[in-house]
Amino acid sequence: MNSDTSVSQIASAKVNLLGYDLAHMKAFFTEIGEKPFRAVQVLKWIHQFGADDFTQMSNVSQALRKKLSKIAEIRAPEIIAEQKASDGTIKWLMRLDGGNSIETVYIPEDNRGTLCVSSQVGCALDCGFCSTAKQGFNRNLTSAEIIAQLWVANRALNPLAQASIAQSKHGKVQDSKNRVITNVVLMGMGEPLLNFENVVEAIHLMLEDHAYGLSKRRVTISTAGVVPALRRLREVCDVSLAISLHAPNDQIRNKIVPLNKKYPIKELLEACRFYFSGDTKKKQFTVEYVMLAGINDSEKNAHELAALLKKLPCKINLIPFNPFPNSEFDCSKMQTINRFKDILYKAGYVAVIRKTRGEDIDAACGQLAGKVKDKSRRIIRHR
Ligand code: SF4
Repeated sequence: MNSDTSVSQIASAKVNLLGYDLAHMKAFFTEIGEKPFRAVQVLKWIHQFGADDFTQMSNVSQALRKKLSKIAEIRAPEIIAEQKASDGTIKWLMRLDGGNSIETVYIPEDNRGTLCVSSQVGCALDCGFCSTAKQGFNRNLTSAEIIAQLWVANRALNPLAQASIAQSKHGKVQDSKNRVITNVVLMGMGEPLLNFENVVEAIHLMLEDHAYGLSKRRVTISTAGVVPALRRLREVCDVSLAISLHAPNDQIRNKIVPLNKKYPIKELLEACRFYFSGDTKKKQFTVEYVMLAGINDSEKNAHELAALLKKLPCKINLIPFNPFPNSEFDCSKMQTINRFKDILYKAGYVAVIRKTRGEDIDAACGQLAGKVKDKSRRIIRHR
């Protein structure tokens, strides 16, 4: 038996509760003839204590624990490799049912820890500067596979939470001050808004007080600009937003972000405006701009970008391009990036140059490509 067949055979018929948000969990308990309040207990055990076994749930009756063990499970992808970069960045490679793998990256900083989460195996959008794009699209992740990345990382980074399972008699909440992961960005492999339902359910869990309790400002969806889904997102969970703009006009953007041919810049920025309309609490969104030598990095481009974003509540992240094998682009010179930033700054924008993290383990932005196994088919939808 090879490793792939063993993984798919292990996939059982039991219900995996890992990806259920509170509403879904309540519906599950009602369906099996139990009181809905059990949903809160089980949610806390899974996500706040990292429990993976119903027998650990000491404040749930023995009879219910037995019943749950028969019909349900808490199953996350298996970590098959862990790499630590010299700057503390950690990349996990996780194997999914069926043998595909995804990558999740943890980036520690002085006052926070950010987890970069994948939403799809590969990506269909074919952005020219992105190594994930070269892998093509394979499939959407389930809500369990998305939230599992946070669950697995929490367990790996916070063994204290694990120890507390043994100590806890009543399933008390883990102290949020000791949290290692303070921010989540959906900026890993895939376009999150093309996996809408599963991403939204996973985000509900990230925000849910009985699960991870992160604030909306600390959960960010990064999108290349799937305009209808962006408008829909505002209605269901208005988390923070990052737009992969990367160009100051349609002519350049059509070349490096093919989705632009379907949803051009004007429509995208209108959708951003709509996302923020009527809500004074949301302060600003982030504009991501990868610096590609000779493509989008001239002084003229900087002035154009400043004019394009006028009156929009945004800050700009300038991202030095991370080259990967066979990429057709080079990174702009540091001097050019600094000049670009100064022009934006003088035009009144907050513009920062993103520090490259985890470069020595290929965990930097645009480098997540799932090298272990590439079972992808190349599907290019947005032409
Ligand atoms: S940059 Fe994002 S949207 Fe574009 S191909 Fe890569 S993963 Fe997909």
